[in-house]
Amino acid sequence: MSTQMLMHSKQPQVPFVDLAAQYRTIEREINEATSRVIQQTDFILGREVSLFEEEFAAFCEAKYAVGMDSGTSALELALRAFDIGPGDEVITAANSFIASALAISHVGATPILVDVDPSTHTVDVSAIESAITPRTKAVLPVHLYGHPAHMDPIRQLADKHGLVIIEDACQAHGARYKRKRAGSLGHAAAFSFYPGKNLGAYGDAGAVVTNDLGVARRLEMLRNYGQKEKYHHQFRGYNRRLDTLQAAVLRVKLKYLEKWNAARCRNATLYHQFLDGCNVVLPHEVAGAESVWHLYVIRTEQRDALKEHLLTRGISAGIHYPIPIHLQPAYRDLGHKRGDFPVTESCAEQVLSLPMYAELTQDQIEYVAKAIRDFMSAGQDAHSVSKSLDQGPSASA
Ligand SMILES: *Cc1c(COP(=O)(O)O)cnc(C)c1O
Repeated sequence: MSTQMLMHSKQPQVPFVDLAAQYRTIEREINEATSRVIQQTDFILGREVSLFEEEFAAFCEAKYAVGMDSGTSALELALRAFDIGPGDEVITAANSFIASALAISHVGATPILVDVDPSTHTVDVSAIESAITPRTKAVLPVHLYGHPAHMDPIRQLADKHGLVIIEDACQAHGARYKRKRAGSLGHAAAFSFYPGKNLGAYGDAGAVVTNDLGVARRLEMLRNYGQKEKYHHQFRGYNRRLDTLQAAVLRVKLKYLEKWNAARCRNATLYHQFLDGCNVVLPHEVAGAESVWHLYVIRTEQRDALKEHLLTRGISAGIHYPIPIHLQPAYRDLGHKRGDFPVTESCAEQVLSLPMYAELTQDQIEYVAKAIRDFMSAGQDAHSVSKSLDQGPSASA
């Protein structure tokens, strides 16, 4: 009886992600799959990698997938497969993880950053249009937080100007735009299987998805020293192969991805319900888009205080991303200053990613929502002098 009371009085903990909870649901299958690879000592490329590639391409409703050692490599080699390099410009969103820009820089091209649309946090299409120059070779739209970018107008611009579209689908495994899957919306798409992504390996991994056979063949050589046949090197390639053990893990997890994505969507719906009417900006899907809710990102001007408040209740939230790419020291040479991309900059100050993963329970979501409501109403009351003395410990302090 006393232990039960203790459990009741103990504050619930809501981690930002819970990879251990997911592992417990697939432990036996994962252990079988990895020990099979080890027993067969088939460690480099081989059967598990090709099977995963076939299965992942089918999941994306595209023809080919080529496994890579990370999402960043997938972006970089996708650009290389289209011969994008020094002297070329590639347009991408200022509001993204830095790898979107790094891949462009690493092939020797120049990332041209543009601002995002405040309703989806994905790239602002009119900003792309204004950034096109005779040097522009590609656009790299990012399906941020699992929500697809506005692909139809991007496609129209790309067709008009002869540009390659490389999707950064690193957060969008399974997302749809007008019924078509992320991965089949451009000329090629890069996916990351970083452990915390919707489909995550047990280490680094990634893939490029494309419908173009020539591009797929080129990528297979690019990731493998520029060879098709062992020791026959057609060009100076790289070692960026998808690890075979990771492929075995990913094959197990891919079978559950639809179910896990559906659980994320359900969780997003629960957050919408429990946070309805609360004074924070909630994320939403635009018409025609089906997000896979990699992150559930709210916005508020009291972001930092709210994040602290959630921590005192045992809730971990994240910030994606606190410093925009154009204000990073790594990109000082692009010559940007604060004020260049106002939407991106206000995102950096206001966004807060709530706990989001398939195994999150309704109770946990209600608990998080209640903590946010408590904070927001305490903050609002603090503005009213008559009430401010009765508040007790002030959440907005
Ligand atoms: C995770 C991520 C990447 C990079 O993937 P890695 O596997 O970590 O190299 C690139 N772009 C976006 C938007 C990402 O979220």
